[in-house]
Amino acid sequence: PVQVKKICCIGAGYVGGPTCAVIALKCPHIQVTIVDLNKARVDAWNSPDFAVPIYEPGLVDVVKQCRGRNLFFSTDVDKAILEADLIFVSVNTPTKKSGVGAGFAADLNYVESATRRIAAVATSSKIVVEKSTVPCRTAESMRTILEANSRPGTRFDILSNPEFLAEGTAIADLFKPDRVLIGSLQTTEGKEACRALADVYANWVPQERILTVGLWSSELSKLAANAMLAQRISSINALSAICEATGANIDEVSHAVGFDSRIGPKFLRASVGFGGSCFQKDILNLVYLSESLHLPQVAAYWRQVVEMNEYQKSRFSKTVVDTLFNTITGKHIAVLGFAFKADTGDTRESAAISLIRDFLSERAFVTIYDPQVSEEQIWQDLSEACPTTPLETIKKQVTIVHSALEACTQKEAIIIATEWKEFLEIDWQTVYANMNRFQGEGHWAWRARVKTVLRHSLSSDIDLNFNIGH
Ligand code: NAD
Repeated sequence: PVQVKKICCIGAGYVGGPTCAVIALKCPHIQVTIVDLNKARVDAWNSPDFAVPIYEPGLVDVVKQCRGRNLFFSTDVDKAILEADLIFVSVNTPTKKSGVGAGFAADLNYVESATRRIAAVATSSKIVVEKSTVPCRTAESMRTILEANSRPGTRFDILSNPEFLAEGTAIADLFKPDRVLIGSLQTTEGKEACRALADVYANWVPQERILTVGLWSSELSKLAANAMLAQRISSINALSAICEATGANIDEVSHAVGFDSRIGPKFLRASVGFGGSCFQKDILNLVYLSESLHLPQVAAYWRQVVEMNEYQKSRFSKTVVDTLFNTITGKHIAVLGFAFKADTGDTRESAAISLIRDFLSERAFVTIYDPQVSEEQIWQDLSEACPTTPLETIKKQVTIVHSALEACTQKEAIIIATEWKEFLEIDWQTVYANMNRFQGEGHWAWRARVKTVLRHSLSSDIDLNFNIGH
């Protein structure tokens, strides 16, 4: 029976980095090498002061314990492939920007080139594990590539082992996963490979949480889980529109609905919409898959989850404009939070980007504060979001600052776009005292305005019932 002694992980990103660092921590007898073509990223993982390239609570602690012991980061992809018994493919799979399926299908170029590299380099048998989120039946094409290129005497077993961690809680999720899912061919060799990977996880995950299924079920389960999570958000957001039109309170509705044990309270908070690199991409993938399978009704059903999310973001921008007397031209808006959710520096598909793009197109001035996102990243995201506007022009309208209070000073509106905990502690009394007011505007009009804007934010925990005084 195969026993895994050396693991290689191709892709040192948000998934490959934390996942394989935790494997190294929990399996001191296994040598784990994480490789990436991006030298700057690898250098950051190797930096002497542990300035790792992604922000994730608890991650640095894990890396400190294992790096140099049984955890290595390298750009030498071939060497790591050669030495490993088991290889995770954890590369990015973004939505295709052009060609067949553009805007929906996953771009499998990175998966394919990593797979081809394995086929070209390997001189001994390997278990190849698909960790990236991929459309159903990608393992099949990986197998075709590997088998067509393998040398005599070497065999490749393909497993699907999708990752369910959530950014911001990745380390906690990896320490105590709800489940680990492993898909394999139901052949003797397939089951044997599956057992070898299950044994790795069994070092810290209870046996009953390690689920083994067929390859295609495993691939589809990842898309299904993300689609259903996103669907809850779009459902509650759709209800928030009804609440705002009727005066019902979405927090009360969500609380009441979540008490039903069949529904449950999690993932039921209304917000400006979901972001992140996965939900939209994976649903679009499911839409594409449904269409390829000639299931147009199924495709339309899932597509609506994404459309509702777009609607929620634009509805929020519109509310801001409406609340500021139907124009924000020349007005000053603070945006607190730029990451797509709290406890991460990841900005991919962040709702904040869409909002700021809308505000800029209305020629408002925007001041941004986020505790983790770098200035460089913010400029890059805004340039991409406004491709026809030169960066110098954007910079005339946007200021990036280093504290929430600084951002809120002399503004006409404040938007909380990310639910960072530190925003719960903002002294609203001070913010209020330092905000701009329109000439002749009384306290109560002002207060109603602030409350309306904030009401839509993720942070319904924020207590705005502070005493404004007179
Ligand atoms: P990422 O962009 O952060 O990391 C991918 C890394 O792979 C990049 O650093 C890139 O340089 C590297 N890479 C690409 N091609 C390579 C090659 N041929 N050889 C070596 N390195 C290569 O992406 P991520 O967020 O870690 O996501 C990876 C996969 O995991 C995606 O399929 C995603 O859908 C899935 N996933 C992501 C999350 C999440 O929360 N981010 C959660 C579950 C699953």
